[in-house]
This record gives sequence, C-alpha cells and structure tokens, in this order.
Amino acid sequence: MSVLLCPIRVGARHHPQAEALTFAGRSWSYEALDAEVSRWVAALEAEGVGASDRVASLATNHVASVCLFWALGRLGAVLAPLNARLTSVELAPMVEDIQPRLRLALGALAERLPGARPLESFAEAVSTGASTCQPLEASSPRVVLFTSGTTGRPKGAVLTEGNFRASSRASAGNLGAHPAPRWLGTLPLFHVGGIAMLTRTAYEGGCLVLHERFDADAANRAIDGEGVSHASLVATTLERVLEARGDRRMPDSFAWALIGGGPVPVPLLARARAAGLRALQTYGLTEACSQVTTERPDTADGRTAGVPLLGVEVRIVGAGGEVLGAGAEGDIEVRAPTVMAGYWQRPEATQEAVRDGWLRTKDVGVLDGGGRLTVLSRRTDLIVRGGENIYPAEVEAVLVNHPAVQEASVVGFPDDRWGERPVAFVAPRQGQPHPGDEELAAWCRQSLAGFKTPARFVWVDALPRNAMGKVERTVLRRHALR
Ligand code: AMP
Ligand code: MG
Ligand code: MG
Repeated sequence: MSVLLCPIRVGARHHPQAEALTFAGRSWSYEALDAEVSRWVAALEAEGVGASDRVASLATNHVASVCLFWALGRLGAVLAPLNARLTSVELAPMVEDIQPRLRLALGALAERLPGARPLESFAEAVSTGASTCQPLEASSPRVVLFTSGTTGRPKGAVLTEGNFRASSRASAGNLGAHPAPRWLGTLPLFHVGGIAMLTRTAYEGGCLVLHERFDADAANRAIDGEGVSHASLVATTLERVLEARGDRRMPDSFAWALIGGGPVPVPLLARARAAGLRALQTYGLTEACSQVTTERPDTADGRTAGVPLLGVEVRIVGAGGEVLGAGAEGDIEVRAPTVMAGYWQRPEATQEAVRDGWLRTKDVGVLDGGGRLTVLSRRTDLIVRGGENIYPAEVEAVLVNHPAVQEASVVGFPDDRWGERPVAFVAPRQGQPHPGDEELAAWCRQSLAGFKTPARFVWVDALPRNAMGKVERTVLRRHALR
C-alpha cells in the first residue's frame, strides 16, 4: 500500500515561502495556501463531509476551487467539478448521479445548481483550520468528471489519487526538470486538463498562475511579466495568443506550451515555433487523466502527437481486435497507471471502455516506426466515402491554412451514391476578401486527394463550440441535413 500525502502540506514543510498560487492580483505561498486549505477542511468537516462523500461544485476558475480540491483530498472525499457552461437541465442528471453531500457554486452560477451554497465565501466564517490530512491510497477516488459524450447520458469518469500522481510525474518526466515551474492556468478547473495543471505544479513545488478564464491579452501579460514557464492551450487559444502577441518576442522565462484537447493543425504549431513560442503537441483524454502521448522537447516538430509518456502503453487495434503494427491505422488503446478506475456506478459502461486494463479511447490513429502517435479522428467523426476514410482534421488543417479562413470543420453528409461525402463549415478571417467555393475547392485539391475535397462549403460567422471550446459536430451535422 502506498500512502500519499497532500502536496500542499508537504510543500508547506519543505518550501514554505515558495509561491504556490497567484489569482486575481493576489499570491499565496505554500505556507499560506496550506493554512487556507486547513480552513476549508474545518468548514467541510463542520458540514459533515467525510471520506468517500461527494461534493459538487459549479464554478469558473477561482482560488476557492483550488482550496476545495486540496481540502477534499485531505478528507478522502471526492470532488465532482461541473461544467460552468451547462444549463440546469444538463446539470440535473449529473447531480442526481453522484448524490453529493454538499453543493457549492460561484456567484450567480448558484441559480443553475439548486441547493448550492456560495463557493467563494464557504470557508470565510472559519477562523481556525483543521489539521486533518488523511493519507490517501493510490486507489482513492479524487474526482468524478463528467465527459461530454456525443450521445447518451453523461458518464462520470472516476479519477484516483494514483491517476493524478502518475500523470503529474509522467508529464514532468517528458518536459524535464524545471527549477520552479510557473504554469499558466487558463484551462477550466472543471476539466481534466485544468486539474492536471493544478496537481502537476503542486507535486513539483511550482506555482499555478490561475486565470478566471482564457483571455489572450491577460495570457500574454502573464507570459511577458509574470515569469510563466509553461502553459496548456488548445488550438484555438494558441491561435489567439499568437494573434494578440503580434511580433513581440517570447521571453526567455518561457519554456514550453502543451497543445492538445483536440486536433492540432500542423501549420499552427509551425507558426508558433516561428514566433518563438515553443509548443508540443499532446494527445490525451479525460479517461486517462489528461496526457497519454506528448512530443519530446528535443525532437518536436509538431507533426505528430509524440510518444507515450513514462509508464504509458499505446497500441493500435484493428476491426477484428488484432494488434496492428507501425503504419497501420486503427483504434487507439491505452494501458497506464493514469487510466481511470471506471465510470461512476456504471459497471457495464466501464467494462465496455476498459478491457484487461486497456482503455478503448474511441479515437483512430496510427503509430510510426519511432513509436510516435498520429491521432486521425474520433471514431464517430470519421467520414467514410465509398469505402475511403476521410479524417476531418486533415481537411480542416488544409482549410485553415488558407489566408481567408479563420476556422473550419468538416462533417459527413449522407450521400446516396457514396454513403457519405464531406461538407465543410468555414468561418472567414476578418478583413480578408471572401474566397468563392471554387477557389476553396481548388485550394484543397492542391494538397488533398479529390475524394477528400469537400463537396460543399457552408460559410458561417463562427463554429458552434461547447464549454471546452470543442466544435459541436452534432450541431453541424444537423445543419448539414437541413
Ligand atoms: P475529452 O473527451 O474531453 O477528454 O477529450 C479528449 C479527446 O480529444 C480525445 O479522445 C480526442 O478525440 C481529442 N484529442 C485530444 N488530443 C488530441 C490531439 N492531439 N489530436 C487530435 N485529437 C485530440
Ligand atoms: Mg471523450
Ligand atoms: Mg479534452
């Protein structure tokens, strides 16, 4: 049995004055954050929250969410961070599912979570902290994260203390030792990528530079003026950071940005590199506690999602369940100490998702001879036209490379002859002349086989995105059917 202690408590002993967190113009040392978390423990204990209890929280990023996460760990309790963009109708089944002992919501978000107490002032009345700091086993559940899922009832992925430890260690192993990492925290703390930044910086004795939400100018100010060394971004936020920077030079304090969470166009990473923003493509998912593969800093070229992190195995499986070799496309499966314990109270869904320790990701990809993974598509996004596979991400990368295209998404449209054909939704870049469909089709044909070239282009102001910034393909598919 491995016994694991709260890293904020450990940090308060080993490097009490080191900065642990900054948020909204304030700063907390490890010692100060430890004291704050202790007050949260006392406040939670006063509410009767104990081991294995669930606490639901609905919030955008806030210092209170950080305290809540660590305080629940000290009690052996489980956090269910709910997506702050969801409506009360969408949230209700999740709350019903986890039966929380306590509900907390930030400010006006309380309207969407009946019975919620104010998160920001929850521990305010408590003056003396509790020393409770329960040692955790690796198998202790820490978080239940509901995955969006394109269809059906949302499922809560149960991530354990061991998952977060292994993920943090593996990520640090890839990036290499950094004396005092300062991680720019613009991802939401209700997403696995956000929680992973939180745990990663704490286990390394670093500082989380937490932002309430992503704002390109605020991100650049932190990069230029607050010694940020690392950042986690998705393709769209990287694009916005680059645009807002113009040709301002990246400071030497900046080491690496991790770019993932969805398809990452190769030209975008090339642009980042040309601007001096060192970026690594990463592939991960909620059920594997964020990163699975990441490019290695010494060999990164942005063309693949990199190699499996320390302790992580990746294999490609064919339609008949056979393991495929390098160069063959198939389903991506992952076996690692970062793979979730299962879906919350859904034994059948868990069995379906994890077999013999292998997580079926529902993503399609290919490994090259060097063990580098290329993620081609989500299984459900794959377009099959007359037996030929079309990976939307490949077509989208070509479209966004056109100077007049800001963003693009390609979905399958039913077709009597071919089964499916690709339809492109494109949003124009401001201030650029609008190209005609013929010009865009010709642009695609320069670098793509004819069957991959969209059969139709639909111009939209912007693509519909969910709370995670992911394009809502179901909305587009519905539109394409009209
Ligand atoms: P989530 O289910 O919200 O945790 O998001 C994980 C999903 O994002 C994966 O299953 C992939 O479909 C997608 N994804 C993450 N990283 C990449 C990447 N580097 N390239 C393509 N797709 C990615
Ligand atoms: Mg998913
Ligand atoms: Mg994601």
